[in-house]
Amino acid sequence: MPSDDIEFERIREKLPGFVEASRKRSAHGKVASYIPELSKMPKDALGIAIMDGNGRTASAGDCEIAFTMQSISKVFTLILALMDNGEAAVFDKVGMEPTGDNFNSMLKLELVQPGIPFNPLINAGAIAVTSLIAGSSPQEKTGRVLAFFRQLADNPSLDVDKSVYESEAATANLNRSMGYLLKDRGVLEGNVEEVLDVYFRHCSVSVTCADIARMALVLAFGGTDPITGKPLIPRRYVQIAKTFMTTCGMYNASGEFAIQVGLPAKSGVSGGILTMVPGRYGIGVVGPALNGKGNSIAGVHLMETLSREFDWSMF
Ligand code: GLU
Repeated sequence: MPSDDIEFERIREKLPGFVEASRKRSAHGKVASYIPELSKMPKDALGIAIMDGNGRTASAGDCEIAFTMQSISKVFTLILALMDNGEAAVFDKVGMEPTGDNFNSMLKLELVQPGIPFNPLINAGAIAVTSLIAGSSPQEKTGRVLAFFRQLADNPSLDVDKSVYESEAATANLNRSMGYLLKDRGVLEGNVEEVLDVYFRHCSVSVTCADIARMALVLAFGGTDPITGKPLIPRRYVQIAKTFMTTCGMYNASGEFAIQVGLPAKSGVSGGILTMVPGRYGIGVVGPALNGKGNSIAGVHLMETLSREFDWSMF
């Protein structure tokens, strides 16, 4: 048997036990509640899907539960904005550095010149990036984002979870104030409420672990879908996205994740994690109980276990 097949068989064999061991960590985490609808997620759920370049999937745990992409969506809106505008225009509005601050902090917008968000994965940066997505109306922009996500996930039925969207839109005072500050500083162009509406919607796209694994697989293979052979994203933009995932994808625990797991990853407040083994696997994880840094407590533990067991670290 080729060595890839041997590893995949071992993954399949070990995954259920690893999931049950990591699930226990959920007891020490907390489900996000600042978006009220998210607090309905089951605290001790943990699921994972791992997909290889031939479309084989290994999955275990609660991999069928639906969750919203939240910050995971920012990776793909960044890519779409790069495809729409090119690098120079995007990096005119957002920087390339981690902040060390919370994902929803505005502190450095005031303190550090030129007053653009430090990177596209914090909320301020992602809102600025969303304003760059092409389209003549918020409906058209949301439609383009959804079409892009559906293509990457190879799932035409991906859609916005209305309850989560409405729940976020009704409680987003902080994101709203960030949007207006960015508008005042000339970083965000266009109508703030319309930009925020597109942002809330792309954060609320409902997925399963298999959808996230499928999207990650395209990134793992440099932007070309290894299953269909279709080039979907220019390689350069995948490189940019993966670099941001490595330096700032796991909030203020990105350095720790790089050391303990060593893979590009992006997590969201719903407890989702998108990660990948470059050139080999796309991975989707969900575990709604979060640790103090805002990452899935059981999901991170599971990825640490897998990376160590199969020697996946890129470093
Ligand atoms: N929609 C969420 C917010 O703006 C995304 C945050 C996250 O997942 O980090 O607060």
